[in-house]
Amino acid sequence: MTNDCLFCRIVAGEIPATVVHETDRTLAFRDIGPKAPVHILVIPKAHHRDVAELATADPALAGEVLRICAVVAEAEGLPERGYRVLFNVGEHGGQEVFHVHAHILGGKPLGPMVA
Ligand code: C5P
Repeated sequence: MTNDCLFCRIVAGEIPATVVHETDRTLAFRDIGPKAPVHILVIPKAHHRDVAELATADPALAGEVLRICAVVAEAEGLPERGYRVLFNVGEHGGQEVFHVHAHILGGKPLGPMVA
């Protein structure tokens, strides 16, 4: 738990979120500013700055976050038409919250990735 981390505070229940899935080590909740009909964030409960740091420090947990992305996408009915999973990393990657999170986006054609 990092006191000044928004997502650590969501994990601690100090900031509300619409939780759609929870395990001992992960939490999935709806993005507060959805960019698609389905926009869910999957995070490890433990604080890691970004996906590179998570994958280095705890590769099993990084894999668990990806597994939960698949579970949540399935629960949302996304696999039939497809969806996107992405991690923003750092300033140029557009990362705004420095607690690693996978974005799950779906529910409409997302088009090609644009920079
Ligand atoms: O990848 P990035 O750091 O830019 O994404 C942060 C995401 O966290 C944004 O999509 C934002 O809407 C979301 N957010 C949220 N709940 C909050 C604060 C931010 O879902 N309380």
